Amino acid sequence: MDCIFCEIIKGNIPSTKVYEDEFVTAFNDLNPQMPVHVLIVPKKHIASANDIAEEDAFLVGKVFLAAQKIAEKLGLDNGYRIINNCGEAAGQTVKHLHFHMLGGKTMGEKII
Ligand code: AMP
Ligand code: ZN
Repeated sequence: MDCIFCEIIKGNIPSTKVYEDEFVTAFNDLNPQMPVHVLIVPKKHIASANDIAEEDAFLVGKVFLAAQKIAEKLGLDNGYRIINNCGEAAGQTVKHLHFHMLGGKTMGEKII
C-alpha cells in the first residue's frame, strides 16, 4: 500500500517529528497554515475518521492526549485548534487519518 504517512511513521520519508509515543506520531505539516501546524497521526493505518473501528476508538483519545503534550512543548498556552478533514467533500488529500493542530496566533474566522 502506498501511504505517505505510513512511510513517514516508518522513517522512510523524512519529517520533523514533534512528538511520538506507542500509538501516535506528530510532525510538522509541509505546508503550514499557521505558525504552528502539526499533524497528529495514529500509527495504525486508518483511511479516514469514517473508517475508525470500534477497537480503534481509543486512538482518537490518544491523539488528543498527544495534543496536550505538544501544546505544552510548543508553548501554545492560549489554545489551539484541531481539525480533521474526512473524505472528499471535506478536502481530505492524504488517506491516512490525521488531525491538524493549529496554533501560535489568535485565530479569526471560524466555520462553525
Ligand atoms: P488533508 O488535506 O486534511 O488530507 O491534509 C493533508 C496534509 O498533509 C496537508 O496539510 C499537507 O500539507 C500535508 N502533507 C502532505 N505531505 C506531507 C509530508 N510529506 N510531510 C508533512 N506534511 C505533509
Ligand atoms: Zn497509512
